[in-house]
Amino acid sequence: MILDPFGRPTTNLRISVTQRCNLRCIYCHREGETSPDTEMTVDEIVEIVKLGVELGIKSVKLTGGEPLVREDILKIVKSISRIPGVQDLSMTTNGNLLPVYAEDLAEAGLNRVNISLPTLNEQKYRAITGGDLKPVIAGIKAAVTAGLNPVKLNMVYMKDINTDEVYSMIDFAAETNTILQVIELEPVNLDRDFYEKHHAPLDALIKYLSERAKEVKVRRNMQNRKVYVLPEAKVEVVPPIENTEFCMHCTRIRLTSDGKLKPCLMRQDNLVDILTPMRNGADRAVLKNLFIEAIKRRRPYFIPSR
Ligand code: SAM
Repeated sequence: MILDPFGRPTTNLRISVTQRCNLRCIYCHREGETSPDTEMTVDEIVEIVKLGVELGIKSVKLTGGEPLVREDILKIVKSISRIPGVQDLSMTTNGNLLPVYAEDLAEAGLNRVNISLPTLNEQKYRAITGGDLKPVIAGIKAAVTAGLNPVKLNMVYMKDINTDEVYSMIDFAAETNTILQVIELEPVNLDRDFYEKHHAPLDALIKYLSERAKEVKVRRNMQNRKVYVLPEAKVEVVPPIENTEFCMHCTRIRLTSDGKLKPCLMRQDNLVDILTPMRNGADRAVLKNLFIEAIKRRRPYFIPSR
């Protein structure tokens, strides 16, 4: 396995399979992508995952855009799940199409799913995402029934929008046998005024969770994220902003929907285009070196000050 210049392994590959989406979430960072000019085919995605696995990738997450709007999403899942060395295959989705897809995804080899759920209020959901909450709730239940495990509910935490709903979200997670994941709002691709108005640190929430938790688990291979085991449900927190520990334990690299390896969500200036050389017929050794180059470009975004 190749370590980056900070001694960190790169074991997680987060792939945007499309930038097309069936919602318009007001907070969306679009995985740090600007305007993609093409979309990778299934074979191209699979080839890049295989190269990654040879370099230490063990865990793959599919994201977007909305991954479930890709007509060939089941083929993508099936093909990646069959690659020897992929130990964990998951997806982040807005959940709208999960009532249709949950069972087939599980059958195709998807292990687990994260479902974006910024609110439990129907009107607020429409205002935040432009969509309807009902199919998402049905999708959450369908995912649990299909055996995707765990099912996590991704709640981006926004001041004056949904911070007051955390407690009802914990109850909902308990009712549905899911894990609540509370994510700090990240400034990427957001209007500065929106970010300043709605960003809230997670400190007060973390204090509340620490006081109530029976146990606190640390996800060592996942930015040392903490999972608070409450009497009724588990709550994971994702506080990346100004968080040097989070960055020092980052094991992730991204692949944009137009085939560029992206070493960090927060940066646009260090991408490595692997798709264009692949389409131009570059051989495997060249492509593998491009992957290695992207790993070498990984840097913690927030570095401890000396
Ligand atoms: N359409 C899918 C969905 O809604 O989950 C996948 C794409 S979405 C960009 C992937 C994840 O990023 C979701 O969990 C979402 O909550 C999170 N996310 C989006 N914008 C964010 C932001 N500004 N800060 C933090 N997380 C964000």
